[in-house]
Amino acid sequence: MGKASKDKRDIYYRKAKEEGWRARSAFKLLQIDEEFNIFDGVKRVVDLCAAPGSWSQVLSRKLYVPAKLSSECRDEDLPLIVAIDLQPMAPIDGVIQVQGDITNARTAEVVIRHFDGCKADLVVCDGAPDVTGLHDMDEFVQSQLILAALTIVTHVLRVGGKFIAKIFRGKDTSLLYCQLKIFFEQVTFAKPKSSRNSSIEAFVVCEKYSPPEGFNEKDLYHLLEKVGTPSGVSNDSDCRSGWLEGPNKVYIPFLACGDLSGYDSDRSYPLPSSQDGSQSYQSLEPVQPPIAPPYKKALEMKKAASTSTHRLV
Ligand code: SAM
Repeated sequence: MGKASKDKRDIYYRKAKEEGWRARSAFKLLQIDEEFNIFDGVKRVVDLCAAPGSWSQVLSRKLYVPAKLSSECRDEDLPLIVAIDLQPMAPIDGVIQVQGDITNARTAEVVIRHFDGCKADLVVCDGAPDVTGLHDMDEFVQSQLILAALTIVTHVLRVGGKFIAKIFRGKDTSLLYCQLKIFFEQVTFAKPKSSRNSSIEAFVVCEKYSPPEGFNEKDLYHLLEKVGTPSGVSNDSDCRSGWLEGPNKVYIPFLACGDLSGYDSDRSYPLPSSQDGSQSYQSLEPVQPPIAPPYKKALEMKKAASTSTHRLV
């Protein structure tokens, strides 16, 4: 798909460039904020899985830049934004970058050090592994990232704070909801208008962090295991989703957010044709197809296999 074509087909991709966002994901965080006011009273934030940085840009523009421009805000009172990713990213005003893996315990330690004994008001995580297209597999790998994010949350978030994370909706969504409800008073699943309906992506908005009494961060895994193991149930498959049936069934609050009469991320915008409509749009071949794509070897192997099958026949 050429750039101009993508501009027409993806309104949020085009708008992101017009408004100076590094990625169209910026609109997802902005639309979540429209619904949940997630930046209210926020001074310290952790942005997990932040590259290329459009969420960090939103945090900078919403929190850091206004404070920096205000004559009343002293330097030591400026909002603190710490962004972590496996990939490095270009600098953003007021954002401290940490390059690291959020599943690694040492990354949490580095983040905590930046907060210098204070806790964060908000943790956001837009982390995504490389999607395979196998929904169960993608949901599983994604849930490992959420677990890593939650581990960091239990170390850095203040009581009463918020946590926003990307999830992939799947058969274990109810289980995830129950697990997060152990730590937060309010848990809502949100689908911003800029996130395509065709995508299984959604966001969990967790408000009012309130870990169970006597909670020890080291027990996180055991605590989460217990959610899936109601008394008397030993069969592991029952623990995953089957037990959340009948009276135990949970109804997850699910909200669409963003201007619902605004741009539709699933809509294709018409390609140009001549004014009198006499000429229809002609699709052109790519100017330069990739010469060594990673799938080239697979295609050659497939071709060779099909040739030898034909010979056998
Ligand atoms: N929120 C970002 C933005 O607005 O620009 C986009 C995030 S992108 C969808 C997902 C990011 O997750 C990638 O940059 C990837 O490197 C990062 N990621 C995936 N697994 C990670 C891990 N274990 N630790 C840190 N970052 C990770």
